Amino acid sequence: MKDPSVISQRLTIIGVGLIGGSLARSLRAAGACGEIVGHGRDKQNLQLGVDLGVIDRFETDLSRAVAGADLIVLAVPLSAMADILGKLAGQLAPGAVVTDVGSAKANVVRDASLLGEAFPHFVPAHPIAGTEKSGVGSSVPDLFRNHYTILTPVPETNRDAITRIQRMWEIVGARTVTMDVEQHDRILADTSHLPHMLAFALVDYLSRQDGDDSFRYAAGGFADFTRIASSDPVMWRDICLSNGNAIRGALKGYMDTLARIDRYLASADGAALLKCFSDAKQRRDRFLSERAAAMGKVQDGINDD
Ligand code: NAP
Repeated sequence: MKDPSVISQRLTIIGVGLIGGSLARSLRAAGACGEIVGHGRDKQNLQLGVDLGVIDRFETDLSRAVAGADLIVLAVPLSAMADILGKLAGQLAPGAVVTDVGSAKANVVRDASLLGEAFPHFVPAHPIAGTEKSGVGSSVPDLFRNHYTILTPVPETNRDAITRIQRMWEIVGARTVTMDVEQHDRILADTSHLPHMLAFALVDYLSRQDGDDSFRYAAGGFADFTRIASSDPVMWRDICLSNGNAIRGALKGYMDTLARIDRYLASADGAALLKCFSDAKQRRDRFLSERAAAMGKVQDGINDD
C-alpha cells in the first residue's frame, strides 16, 4: 500500500449491519479505502447499504464478493462465522488479510483454522463499541472513536497482518490493545456479557410478576438499567453459546454477591449495606473519570460490547 492513509484498495465487508456498516462508513469518511464491496444474504439490506453510501456495490455470492479484495472483514453473527470461514478457504487473493469483529473470540479463532494456509493472515479483533440497535440503517461513521478494539492474535498470526488491522482501527479513531483469547473472553464475560444477562433477566423477571402493571410504574432507573435488553436476541444467544463457560463463571460471582446482599437484608444490617453501596458508588465514579481521562471523552450509551 503506497499511501499509508489507505488501508485497502478493495475492502469486502461480510455482514453489512451495525458494526460492518459503521466500519465501512468510518473508513470511507477517513478516505482509507478504494472500493467497498458488501456481502450478505438479504439483497434489500445490501441495496440499502448502497443507497446510504455505506458500500459501493454488493455481491450475494461469497466468492465474487471477495474476488480481488485485499482486506476482508467478517461482521456477521457469531453463529455464521464458521460456515463463512470454511467457504473462504481457497477463495482469497494472495496476501489478503481477513479479520472479524465477533464479541467472543475462542470459537472464532478455532474456526479460523478452516482458512487453511491463509490462517496466519486472519487477525481476530473485537471493537468494544456498539449499541442495542442492529442493521445497516443504524450504522454511524463515528461508532469506534475513543473506544478500544481488542486484538487477540495467536502465535501463528502474521506480524504485518496484525499491524495492518491495528492501523485500520486507529484510522477510525479506536485504541487498539492486544490480549490472549482466554483473557478477552473472561474480561468480556464480566464487563459486557454479564450486564446483558442481568438486563435480560430483570425484564424477564418483571414480566413474570404481574404482567404490564409493574412496567407502568417503572421509571428512568429501570429504563437505564435495561436499555441493553433491547439488543438483538440472536446476537446474544450466539454470544452465550460461544462464551458460555466464562459467562457462567461471571454469573456465579454475581450470584455470590447477591447472596451476600441478601444476608445483609435478612439481618437488617444497615452498616453493611451502606458500606457495600458506598464502595460501589466510589468505584463506579472512579471508573467513569478514569475512562473519561483515558478516552478523552465519554460516549454515554454507546459502549455496549
Ligand atoms: P447486525 O447489525 O445484525 O449485522 C449482521 C449482518 O450480518 C446483517 O446485516 C446480516 O445481513 C449479515 N449476516 C447474517 N448472517 C449472515 C450470513 N450467514 N452470511 C452473510 N451475512 C450474514 O449485527 P451487528 O450488531 O453488526 O453484529 C455483527 C457482529 O459484530 C457480531 O459477531 C457481534 O458479536 C459483533 N459485535 C457487535 C456489537 C454490537 O454492539 N452490536 C459490538 C461489537 C461486536 P443479511 O441479513 O443480509 O445476511
